[in-house]
Amino acid sequence: MATSKTGNRDWQTETAAVHAGEFVDPATRASSPNLVMSVTFAPETLTGFSARDEQGYDGFIYGRVGSPTVAQLEAKLAALEGGEAALCYASGVAAAHALICGRLSRGDHLIVPDANYVGIAELARDTLPRYGIEVSYVDTSRPEDVERAIRPSTRMLWLETPANPTMRLCDIALLARIAHERGIRDVAVDSTYATPIATQPLSLGADFVVHSLTKYISGHGDAMGGAVIGRKQELDALNLEATVHFGGVLSPFNAWLILRGAATLPIRMRAHEEAAMEVARFLEGHPQVTRVFYPGLPSHPQHELAARQMRNFSGMMTFQTRSKGTDIASRMVKDLEIIHYAVSLGHHRSLIYWIGTDDIQASTFRHDAEQLRRYRDFAGDGVFRLSVGIENASDLIADLSRVLD
Ligand SMILES: *Cc1c(COP(=O)(O)O)cnc(C)c1O
Repeated sequence: MATSKTGNRDWQTETAAVHAGEFVDPATRASSPNLVMSVTFAPETLTGFSARDEQGYDGFIYGRVGSPTVAQLEAKLAALEGGEAALCYASGVAAAHALICGRLSRGDHLIVPDANYVGIAELARDTLPRYGIEVSYVDTSRPEDVERAIRPSTRMLWLETPANPTMRLCDIALLARIAHERGIRDVAVDSTYATPIATQPLSLGADFVVHSLTKYISGHGDAMGGAVIGRKQELDALNLEATVHFGGVLSPFNAWLILRGAATLPIRMRAHEEAAMEVARFLEGHPQVTRVFYPGLPSHPQHELAARQMRNFSGMMTFQTRSKGTDIASRMVKDLEIIHYAVSLGHHRSLIYWIGTDDIQASTFRHDAEQLRRYRDFAGDGVFRLSVGIENASDLIADLSRVLD
């Protein structure tokens, strides 16, 4: 559990990315963060034994309750999101699970988007109801639908924008206001696609931000992690229950890798956006491509909202092709030279993957007929999800031409 000793709210983002949570080590004068792998810590005075005792103690006791390198990353993430505190977990899904199951109880009602990240969609659909949490699936790009879904028992509104993989956005400020006016306690935003460089959901009224650190914040495809950022009091309570009891803590080694990755997040996001814009324009003009969904293109159905809510359009897009998606995907597996045909996203190298609508429908979402029609309007018969890396855009365009021409 981290509160930053070095956090400084007046730092600009680029400075906070480098310096927040970091300090010269008093013992060695090391300038870069140490990797502290120790699981246990020898207190200077007698302390208690349980997690509850440890919460009141200022130092570290045991790795599952908190550890130094993880705390440094937590301080950096809190600074980047403009939050009071952060908690790190072993993966993005572990962070989502900790937040949802740490905050909700049997009989509580949760609203989730009707198309969002598969792991969290499946958690909501298959697992949470077994624990007595009621779930509604709503098109969160339509505030009136969210409003209609609210019940007296609704405790949490879960948002994801832009959503994986549909690239659908939702208006955080508007939905947070509606939710709070209607008595919903928690508005949580999965901001993995946007990153704090594009959007700071807490400043728009959200109570919690969730990240898969595995993606942009780590940025190099070599460490899994997740985080929840929010108010200190609520995260202290969440740490005590969800972190300590569920136990999905981040390894210090991964925290150390992600700390290093996060330092370059602002400049990487600029490079992602610049390359993505060029690639998106190329795709939009390509005869094989029927549709491109990129928030930075005026053709995105929610471009106006994107321009208002995102300071950076990020590197994520989807597109559809005239030829059968699976045929093009087979060519990609064989013929792409730079872009890796692989899942995940937000890495420095470009990644692409075919996501068939039927597969998604069968495995992930629970839609009524009207929702299915709207999902098909957005995702057609499947999309290529392209995560544009920080390579030179002309090399990426040449690579895509190889499989599309
Ligand atoms: C990948 C992803 C997650 C899950 O993160 P993991 O680190 O893979 O557990 C959650 N939300 C979004 C939007 C993602 O892209």
